[in-house]
Amino acid sequence: MPETGIATVFRGARKPFEFREYPVPEPAPGDVVVKVRMANVCGSDLHAWRGEYDISRGQKEPYCLSIGHEMTGEIHSLGEGVTHDAAGQPLKLGDRIAYQYFCPCGKCRSCLRGTTPRCSAGLRFRYPPPEYPHFNGAYGQYYYLHRGQAMFKVPDNVPDDLAGPANCALAQVIDGLNRSALTVGDALVIQGAGGLGINAVAVARDRGVSKIIVIDGVESRLEMAKEFGAHETILLAEHPTTEARVQRVKQLTDGWGADGVMELVGHAAVVPEGIDMLCSGGHYLMIGNINQKQRVEFNPSALVHGGKTVHGLMWYPPDCLRQALTFLSTRGDQYPFHRILSHRYPLKAADQAFHDQDAGRVQRAALLPWESV
Ligand SMILES: [Zn+2]
Ligand SMILES: [Zn+2]
Repeated sequence: MPETGIATVFRGARKPFEFREYPVPEPAPGDVVVKVRMANVCGSDLHAWRGEYDISRGQKEPYCLSIGHEMTGEIHSLGEGVTHDAAGQPLKLGDRIAYQYFCPCGKCRSCLRGTTPRCSAGLRFRYPPPEYPHFNGAYGQYYYLHRGQAMFKVPDNVPDDLAGPANCALAQVIDGLNRSALTVGDALVIQGAGGLGINAVAVARDRGVSKIIVIDGVESRLEMAKEFGAHETILLAEHPTTEARVQRVKQLTDGWGADGVMELVGHAAVVPEGIDMLCSGGHYLMIGNINQKQRVEFNPSALVHGGKTVHGLMWYPPDCLRQALTFLSTRGDQYPFHRILSHRYPLKAADQAFHDQDAGRVQRAALLPWESV
């Protein structure tokens, strides 16, 4: 009997997931088969599940798609020639690892320019579950890691709860903050106190950013942001209009505006507001707006007159993942990271996890592929 494992199939917006059993593949030279220890419900998975973010790649409903990307696991089998991680640490079976969920091709113009996150071929291995090697999303008992997906050993003192979000939320906000180079004396506005927003607070705080202002509609999320080090919070109910929120940010920044604003919400409507909150020369870091259908009107002269820069970010250079793991290992105990994952579900309860997170009943759900329902 060949060894088998469960992979989750996404069938369409708000449709029940299917759980199918497939043979566990043998890794080709340079590749690795990972035994997934934990996979999380990231905001972008939720957007896809709601039908707001198109991941169908041309398929029609009912889809047959792999889903999930934020995860951590351990080495189940090593392909020929894989002896070390991307930081040069030796690898053996059972080692816990974190890895990029995308795979830059290394040959296109983006990759050759050193801007690997812009590689348009980065998701070419996100095959539907029926196609070999079957385990192509985080929501499965295994995950097939292709050479080209940077992987790093997880330090022993970083538990799965903390390592899980490292390959998406944490590495992504590190990439954003690296680009804006915010530091002591600077002010940062964070639009959205979800998984990305909370991680961004911790990283910004650790870099000495002097004023971190977080905006959200849910009070408990803002409380969590404060526990991670936010200096000020803006609750939508208390500042219900764009004008009121922009004015509040100006007040909190001596009338000047914020040096950086991070869009971590995923709604196009927040973009003009975020740009208005910036000071002259400020940086707008857009990470949350992945939904392809949304549109927004804004006044582009605000960018020209203010010398403002807009960055769109999806995916990150490998070193950001190394930085994320080092940050968790050396500084993680300074922040209540263990509180981000609020609920754990067996993999086969994924429907419940999505419904609960969608309804705001949980902050961040984790799926445990080896726990029975
Ligand atoms: Zn994600
Ligand atoms: Zn490429």
